[in-house]
Amino acid sequence: MENCIFCKIVAGEIPSSKVYEDDEVLAFLDISQTTKGHTLLIPKKHVRNVLDMDQATAETTFARLPKIARALQKATGAQGMNIVNNNEEIAGQTVFHAHIHLIPRYESGDGFSINYTTHEPDFEALGQLAEQISKEVAQ
Ligand code: AMP
Ligand code: ZN
Repeated sequence: MENCIFCKIVAGEIPSSKVYEDDEVLAFLDISQTTKGHTLLIPKKHVRNVLDMDQATAETTFARLPKIARALQKATGAQGMNIVNNNEEIAGQTVFHAHIHLIPRYESGDGFSINYTTHEPDFEALGQLAEQISKEVAQ
């Protein structure tokens, strides 16, 4: 897609530090290097994000994750890894070509953290919401 920075990386029009490539996907180092080895995995086919993704693209893209994650852990000596995917601006997406962040983790305070707010569980509300979502999934 024109003016998509990740499509330009796929086409070799702008440089990237590639760590894995096949016919369907490309993985390369994120220039921000939130932690050492921060990598992005993208489908070569332009798709906006997971909310827009067809099943075949999801299958080829997400299937590569364990292989790349293990290689990244081995190469960096990381203790663990956060695998993050942002969809739409409200969720922090800034590049609108789907990508999965692999963020190796070394110690707390290494540059990345996730904070979940926890609420007292309301099991009735949870049941109703789950039913509503499951109806949508079945569509
Ligand atoms: P997100 O905020 O989830 O859309 O993530 C976009 C990511 O793309 C950011 O972490 C940027 O650092 C990264 N990024 C932007 N341009 C490039 C580039 N040319 N090469 C590598 N990573 C990039
Ligand atoms: Zn693109």
